[in-house]
Amino acid sequence: MTHTQLAGGLVGLALCTQLWASDAITGIEVTPPEIDFDVITRLWGFVKKTTDAPKDLPPPPLVLDWHVPPFARMGFQYPTPNFPDNTMQISIAPRTIEGYSKEMVTWGVGHELVHYAFIMRENQWQNRRATFADNLKHHCDLEFKQITRSIADEIWKIYHSDTQRAAMYDEVEKSCFNEPNQ
Ligand SMILES: [Zn+2]
Repeated sequence: MTHTQLAGGLVGLALCTQLWASDAITGIEVTPPEIDFDVITRLWGFVKKTTDAPKDLPPPPLVLDWHVPPFARMGFQYPTPNFPDNTMQISIAPRTIEGYSKEMVTWGVGHELVHYAFIMRENQWQNRRATFADNLKHHCDLEFKQITRSIADEIWKIYHSDTQRAAMYDEVEKSCFNEPNQ
């Protein structure tokens, strides 16, 4: 079930890539983004387990988004009382996929999935609400930091890169230091 849901995200990505390709000037090569959906599906299972989420909670759509602000690499957005028109999705800036390792992009998606799980938990796992309360801060929360560090360990079990894992651990601390209010 989860896999189907994330595959839905893949369709979204494929569609964006195709639009991009059809608009591209002939001669510019467009390669599909290198995103490992099997690993992301595994991480989603891990996030659900560690946050005590309902087993059938669907993951949010994952989309390539050209509107991610320049200071961000990716983000999780959702409708709130102040911004009820926001679409619930994890947005990845295309430049992120070009500029970062596959491991780091995968870890970033894992980090966003933990944001999603925390927001859903704060809202009693009611994932179909029109808007979501978000009064809790995540980045310096000890459980959030622990889970995102564990995601780095899960990715290490697949790719075995100590350097990449150290960079992910750094990101855990940087998120808290640089964006403590998120
Ligand atoms: Zn974050």
